[in-house]
Order: sequence, then structure tokens, then C-alpha cells
Amino acid sequence: MEFAFLLSRVLGEPRDIKLSAGEMSKRRDDAVQSIVHFAYDNVPWYGRVMSALGISPEDIQSAPDLSLLPIIEHDDLLSNSKDFLPRGARVEEFVELKTSGSSGAPRTIYHDVEGMIAGWAVKLRERSLREKYVGDLKKYRSASLSMEGDSVERVRAHMRVSAPAVWKLLPDSRKFSAFEDPARVVEGLREWRPERISGYGSALGRLFRYVVDSGMDFPLPRLVSFSSDSLSSTERQIIEKHFGVPVLGVYGATEAFSIGYECGEGEGYHVNEDAAFVRIVDREDRDAEPGEPGSLLVSNLVNRGTVLLNYRLGDVAALIPEPCPCGRSLPRIRLLEGRDNAWIERPGAPPVHPFRLSGPLNRLEVGRWQIVQPHIDRLIVRILPTPGQDRAALEASIRALVREVVRPDLEAEVEFPSELDHTRSGKVLSFVR
Ligand SMILES: [Zn+2]
Repeated sequence: MEFAFLLSRVLGEPRDIKLSAGEMSKRRDDAVQSIVHFAYDNVPWYGRVMSALGISPEDIQSAPDLSLLPIIEHDDLLSNSKDFLPRGARVEEFVELKTSGSSGAPRTIYHDVEGMIAGWAVKLRERSLREKYVGDLKKYRSASLSMEGDSVERVRAHMRVSAPAVWKLLPDSRKFSAFEDPARVVEGLREWRPERISGYGSALGRLFRYVVDSGMDFPLPRLVSFSSDSLSSTERQIIEKHFGVPVLGVYGATEAFSIGYECGEGEGYHVNEDAAFVRIVDREDRDAEPGEPGSLLVSNLVNRGTVLLNYRLGDVAALIPEPCPCGRSLPRIRLLEGRDNAWIERPGAPPVHPFRLSGPLNRLEVGRWQIVQPHIDRLIVRILPTPGQDRAALEASIRALVREVVRPDLEAEVEFPSELDHTRSGKVLSFVR
């Protein structure tokens, strides 16, 4: 059953290219209607809020109608986690995952097995794209720089038992910790010789910067894919231009596995909207205009464990209205640096989002940056410079930038540490308060 199910969903070819925007919307809206009916009938939170608002499942015919439902915040899920599970659900039959806690307290998310496979199956779109670079190898070698026991690893382990046909499609992977000494990672990569390296953007950036700085080498992969936190534009350039290795970003979360992916042709991430529908809202929680940055809400259309519709992930993104040159009908978003609740506070003035600083900082071609606001009157900008950069000039440009964008009377402190701060889960946040 499972294999037929998969075949019917995605296998064979990148169907998203073949489906017109209309066909894709139909597929998405069928999934929306199905999960909304399920949620209304079975999941206490939705039965309650929909009754209170006087709306029925019939009022939600297409994905944009999900805006009729209230936005689910992290705190709603933390304090009412059982209300998001179907009544009578046997959680021991679900896959239990914990969020990394890089955005508040860790949350437990349950995935039902079929939803897990469906959520993962859309990843086969990325896979068909990867084959362009890695080759059509039955089993290629992959290395990952992330954390032990993270969601990806737990899903893989579960898939091996519950969906061996899908598991067989996964590459042979070897894991390195994001915290590992880069010299030891290089040693491991020399031995393993992976065709593809994936992992946290910050950990991959650190590895390739180290390789440039130390002059060490290892057999280059055919593709680098990053996720979880960002790869700075300078680090990306090092991998793409200096080493000539293509880089593709993927975007996912514990709450919805494969939200989007870069196609390598147009800018931004294509959203797998038939499994993870995305809305972007402004500070008043109204749908943002195309191109306008806002808070990203995701609706997982396939998970019937912890059912999340209109859930605020905490990321900042903007919709890209233009069609992608690659021809895919999947919509696109641009992901911006920083979390949506991470604003730079100012006395007597509205806060400023750090993404206002990210473009200019990237143009300074620093290796990587991190902004820390320990107090309303202090702003620390930590910089990993690229070799040969004039630190005094860099410091002056950054102070001028902060005066212009944040506050004319604020003298930023510019630091050049050897490493940036990590969260417990190994990610590097661009803004820390
Ligand atoms: Zn594209």
C-alpha cells in the first residue's frame, strides 16, 4: 500500500514541473479540505475555535481560506499540546519529535506514519533536482553536519522500519557534529568521500572557511545542500565560486518536514504547497503584500498527528510574485535573516528588524555576522572577517550603518571573535537578545 501511495504522489519525475499552477492549486485545495474536515471532526482545538468563530469546514474551500482560522502561536501549542492531537489518538503509534528549541522552549510534535511519508515524499522533488548534480546513482554517499539525534535522524530511523521502500531511496549518510573540530571533519570527509554534503548552513560555512584558511583539502562533493540556519552570502560564494561546488538550500521544520527548496535557477525557495501551505502576514497579522517581508505561517496539510494549520513558525519571509524561470508552478518565497520576534528595540521609536541590516552587512562581504542586543542601549555586531579584510575600515562602516538604520546616537560595538555563539542545538542565530 505504502509504495503505491508514494507512486501516486510523487515518484517517477518532478511532477511539479508538469503540473500547471491550476492543477497544483487543485491538489493543494483537496488536501486543505481533507485536513480541515479531519481537524474539525477530530481535533479538539479546531472544533472549539471554529465553533466559537461560527465557521464550518465548508467555509474553507481553498488554502487562502485558512486565514479564517486563528494563528497558532508556540505558546498555544506548549500549553494545550493534547488539544492538537486527534481525540483518542494512540501517541505510541506516532513518531514523536522535539523542536530544537532555537525559538523558545522545545515543543513535542507527533507525526502519524502516513503523514510522515507524505511529508517526506515531497522531498523527492529535491531529490530529482539533486540527481542533476550528483548523478542518477542508486545509492550515493552523503555526509551531514548537524546534531546527533535530530529530527532528520529520527525520521530516517523510523522510516527504515515503517516505510522501507522510502528508506531505500535515502542516500548512505554519515553524520558529523556541527560542533566538531573542522580539521577532524575534513579527515572524516577524506575517508568517506561523499558525493553530497548537507547540514546546518552555519556549520557548512565554517567548514569551507576553514578549508580555505588552512589550505587543507578533501575530495569535493558534487553538491552542498544547507538547511536550518543560514549560510552567509560570503560563505556561499566560497563554496560556489572558490570551490566550484553548486549549493542548494532546503527549508523545513520539525512541524512540517519539507516546506521548500531552492531550484538553482530562480531566487528563493519553491514551496511544496500541496504538503506545507505557507502564508506571510504583516505585524497586524493581515496577509502581507507580495514582496513584503512578514511572519511565516505554515499549515501542514498531511500530518494527522499534531495537526497544525496557520502555525507561526517564527521565520521571516516574503512571497516572490514573479514566476520562476525554471518553469515550476510551485510558489516561491524569499527567506530573510532573523526570527520574526527578534526585533532591535529602540527607546521611543518602533523596533527595527535585523533584516534591515542584513543586506548592507552582506555587501561588506564579511565571512559571517551576528547581532547581539544585551540592553536597549547596546548593540554588539560580531564579525568573522574574510582573510585580508581591513578591520578598522569594517568597524567604521558597521558603526555608520547602525547609526543610519537603527539610531543616530548609538555607537555599535564591533567585535571580531574567533567563533560566533551557537544555540544548544548547534545553530548560529543572526540576532540574539
Ligand atoms: Zn525555480
